[in-house]
Amino acid sequence: MEAVGRGWNQVMGTFELERIIIAAQSLGTARAALDEAITHAKERHQFGQPIGRFQAVAHMVADMATDLEACRAFIYSVADRHRRGEPCAKEAAMVKLFVTEKAKEICLQGMQILGGYGYMLEYPMQRHLRDSLLNPVGAGTSQIQRNIIAKQLGL
Ligand SMILES: Cc1cc2nc3c(=O)[nH]c(=O)nc-3n(C[C@H](O)[C@H](O)[C@H](O)COP(=O)(O)OP(=O)(O)OC[C@H]3O[C@@H](n4cnc5c(N)ncnc54)[C@H](O)[C@@H]3O)c2cc1C
Repeated sequence: MEAVGRGWNQVMGTFELERIIIAAQSLGTARAALDEAITHAKERHQFGQPIGRFQAVAHMVADMATDLEACRAFIYSVADRHRRGEPCAKEAAMVKLFVTEKAKEICLQGMQILGGYGYMLEYPMQRHLRDSLLNPVGAGTSQIQRNIIAKQLGL
């Protein structure tokens, strides 16, 4: 039972968890985009070879996978901090900002790898991109997360 008069702190505490969860949701969306991009890069042939053999495409996949792992590690680190009951208002804002914005970039790269197919409703990539656009808005926009981080840094 929390003390009377601490309601604001309790509400703020729920936002920390919500922001970590939204980052994890974005990670799932980005993971789905990466999986689809890899499958497509192996199956789609142009100029006599799978498009994944073109270095330009392979490097986009490599960047997507690298960003995804950085996001995953960041989420685990902040989630662990929250689980241990340590203050994490700044870290929750940072992880939400970083991962939701990175997921958007990853999905855009996925769209690029699918070419025209990415835009078609028959392929899930367009859904991943639309989903990735939601999370930088909900639970406080990216602009608001930057405000929180700056304030936590004493600005
Ligand atoms: C998937 C999803 C789930 C949601 N779930 C809930 C929910 O469960 N409960 C709930 O109450 N709401 C929910 N929302 C609403 C969400 O919290 C708001 O959409 C969000 O806070 C932005 O508010 P707004 O849409 O009114 O945009 P606005 O406040 O009008 O913002 C528009 C733009 O102006 C910028 N802006 C506004 N103020 C500032 C500022 N002070 N400094 C810098 N830039 C600023 C914003 O960053 C944004 O770019 C959800 C939204 C989404 C997308």
